[in-house]
Amino acid sequence: MAGRNGKKGFYEESMETFYRAADLIRMDRRVRMELEEPDFEHIFYVTIDTRDRLVPLPEEELPRFVDLRPSGVKAGEALEPLADGAFILHRRALLSADITMRQGVINIPGKGFFRLEPGGPRKFKAYRIQHNQVRGPYKGGIRYHKDVTLDLFKALAADMTWKTAIAEVPFGGAKGGIKIDPFAYSREEIEHLSLRYVYKLKNLMGPFLDIPAPDVGTNGEIMAYMMRQYTDGERQHHAMRGVVTGKDVRIGGSEGRSRATGQGVVYCLEEWAREKGFDLRGARVIIQGFGNVGSAAAEILDSLGAKIVAVNDAHGTVHRDGGLDVTALMQYVHHDPRNLRRSVAGFPGGTPISKSDFWGIDADICIPAALGEEIDGPVAERLKVKLVAEAANGPTTLEGDRVLEARGIDLIPDVICNAGGVTVSYYEWLQNQRLEHWTEAEVNGRLEQALKKNYALIRDVACDRARRTVLYDSRSYCVGKPIHVRTAAKVVALKRIEVHYVLEGFSQ
Ligand code: NAD
Repeated sequence: MAGRNGKKGFYEESMETFYRAADLIRMDRRVRMELEEPDFEHIFYVTIDTRDRLVPLPEEELPRFVDLRPSGVKAGEALEPLADGAFILHRRALLSADITMRQGVINIPGKGFFRLEPGGPRKFKAYRIQHNQVRGPYKGGIRYHKDVTLDLFKALAADMTWKTAIAEVPFGGAKGGIKIDPFAYSREEIEHLSLRYVYKLKNLMGPFLDIPAPDVGTNGEIMAYMMRQYTDGERQHHAMRGVVTGKDVRIGGSEGRSRATGQGVVYCLEEWAREKGFDLRGARVIIQGFGNVGSAAAEILDSLGAKIVAVNDAHGTVHRDGGLDVTALMQYVHHDPRNLRRSVAGFPGGTPISKSDFWGIDADICIPAALGEEIDGPVAERLKVKLVAEAANGPTTLEGDRVLEARGIDLIPDVICNAGGVTVSYYEWLQNQRLEHWTEAEVNGRLEQALKKNYALIRDVACDRARRTVLYDSRSYCVGKPIHVRTAAKVVALKRIEVHYVLEGFSQ
């Protein structure tokens, strides 16, 4: 079975902590069965019509076309650049153009030689895995990525069940998405794809049934398309805004949602630092991934006086020992229209280094905020940090966990570290139900308390510190001996889920 990054048996590996925690709390056998596989695995296909493209001519073919007369395309803006180097050819580009084409190849001065690749219908594999809903509607992100698999979505959907329980939000767990490289498609194609996805899924989702949110490769704009498709033709569409979260604030999204996951990571870091007597001011931080989560965490940490000394993403790594200028990096990655891949690669304010050197940088905190299974045994051996704060889902392998523990490197597990996103998604959903709009201060105040409290509770369970504080009571969660912090998080989640089955029973 393919894994989170295409490796073998990832789902089974990800469930190992589940079984360990279930054994520790002597979980009822029937409840175990309800949780060890998802409720539903929806796999379906979405088809869209794609546009004609101009694809860069491979270098080895160039000599055959060097004498090709240049073509004049006056409506230059009708050639829409894609991050993979191709251009979408909008028909209006041809209206006043003077074109010479040979064997489908065209020479556009200033842009290069391209082969015309005709558009047409294209089919994509899509998924929605609904893991569990005993605590509330299925909830989880939508990922558009070329390497997604059923195994990956099963693991991520189960993670959402544990995470919503840990964050104490009344939702279950789900995950889904489409196997596609979103950077190779135009905005319009992605819009059509998202509409088709919801068209197929409509009967299986809803504000009280299954609530998607953004994840890797998706964003608030895509959530707006999904909401539009779901509510299309409905007379009471405003009552259905809660069908997706992570929407733009102007159409029912919550203040603070776009930065919530990064903000949540920082609240966990503050709680860790408080207990350790560590000062985040001046702390040296390395971050993998500078998308929604990584860049928000970087910005907030920078504002607290920490130094972001290196950032790695899918296309490169930048390093500056004295600390990168995060504002300039944000501008370069997210607001420069020429940076189509939204990558840190080529940022002039830092030195490019290899990914392998990135892991070996001397720092205090490592924040993986990209994809899964990045910190395996060898990477964990190389890390020179005090703490790994898992902003991504599943960034550390079991072997990575063992090495980090043996080396005395602390860990904030993903299910609490990145739970800020789903927590504020719940606030967004609540605001949608009540037709309210909360301030960012109100959102962050609630988020801070929810995350710090539950992270402190997990740490109590990890070091078997049974106690009652003004905020929580860890006595009913502790298992009578110290356990790994990842298992402790799972113990908290499973106890909160199990009680629903114990008290409510099982539907037949
Ligand atoms: P994003 O698409 O906005 O950004 C992903 C980042 O990861 C990009 O910078 C990309 O270049 C980088 N990346 C991709 N492949 C990489 C590779 N092989 N090596 C190095 N970097 C790579 O995604 P996001 O929303 O920021 O999500 C990042 C992680 O956080 C994911 O694991 C996601 O599941 C998790 N997460 C996201 C949210 C949320 O609210 N968006 C909530 C909880 C967890």
